[in-house]
Amino acid sequence: MKILITGGAGFVGSHLVDRYLRDGSEVVAVDNFITGARENLAAAFKEPRFHFIEADVTGAWDDVKEALRNQDRPPDALLHFASPASPVDYANHPLETLSVNSLGTERCCRLALEWGARLLFASTSECYGDPKEHPQREEYWGNVNPNGPRSCYDEAKRYGEALVFAYVRKYDLDARVIRIFNTYGPRMRRNDGRVVPNFIAQALEGKPLTVYGEGKQTRSFCYVDDLVDGIVRCVASDETRGQVVNLGNPDEHTIEEFAEIVSRIVGRPLKREHRPMPVDDPGRRCPDISRAKTVLDWYPRVTLEEGLRRTVSAFSLPTI
Ligand code: NAD
Ligand code: UDP
Repeated sequence: MKILITGGAGFVGSHLVDRYLRDGSEVVAVDNFITGARENLAAAFKEPRFHFIEADVTGAWDDVKEALRNQDRPPDALLHFASPASPVDYANHPLETLSVNSLGTERCCRLALEWGARLLFASTSECYGDPKEHPQREEYWGNVNPNGPRSCYDEAKRYGEALVFAYVRKYDLDARVIRIFNTYGPRMRRNDGRVVPNFIAQALEGKPLTVYGEGKQTRSFCYVDDLVDGIVRCVASDETRGQVVNLGNPDEHTIEEFAEIVSRIVGRPLKREHRPMPVDDPGRRCPDISRAKTVLDWYPRVTLEEGLRRTVSAFSLPTI
């Protein structure tokens, strides 16, 4: 198999690159490093089956096509992961976020058609917004503010999904959409602003944990290896063609409970510093993964404590 991964130098993308290389595939990663890092691909660069193209998915796509023309065959699958993903990152890059999920997604759809490749679009649980249904099933349409501070991400992903489904209906594109719920693990940027790297970095530096609001909002955290396994199964499955699949861990916790777990993992009590709740921060979030269980025979295996242990030890290394 030959796989092209946009956003391949990011947190999830780089783990996907490593997994496909380990499985024996040829992998092409495209990234412009807006939120990713070359170091995430340190192992991949040593592998002759790995090719890297530094390019903006919304910009000089001709460079990508030119680089691929010099290779012997087009990719069999295109995985579109390029997009800022943390609330702090997309607040810093709102226009780039809108563009990579709209224009960028359309380019991926066209290329997949041209190559006869299958497409997987990385969408998000943010499509459900501040959900009125709980847990969230794929059929739920969501409760999203169309112009609030998170809209550059939520609405861009919703538009990306609409585009993919327009290509499925009009051109019979072999495409599927995954909605990823909060995922964590090694290679998250310490300063990307998400709760997992924030709390771990604060714990390691002996600082108080910054809990937004009273910490009663919930999230369900999935370890990155579990997510990657679900993605690989989804790409390989004919049954997911033209479908949306939730991928996440239904083990739901309040942020205050999560702070307590981090404190337990690092083995000492940690103070809290309460900060204002961000605008439109969803009150609760938990995936219904019945479809992934049935269609992909997939469910997460790594417990939150185990995943956090692995992440804390990666964050303790001097290179991260
Ligand atoms: P990340 O920021 O670590 O990775 C995104 C990568 O995309 C970065 O390497 C960045 O440089 C690259 N990129 C962004 N715009 C680009 C462009 N125009 N051209 C080329 N490269 C570009 O984020 P992540 O957490 O790894 O998320 C990856 C994908 O998964 C995103 O599409 C995100 O929306 C989706 N997702 C992630 C989560 C999660 O919990 N991590 C949850 C839901 C959805
Ligand atoms: N959060 C927090 N402290 C932080 C960072 C985030 O309490 O330092 C909260 C945030 O308000 C949200 C949850 O943790 O309710 C998850 O935030 P994150 O940015 O990781 O992801 P989101 O699910 O909001 O995209």
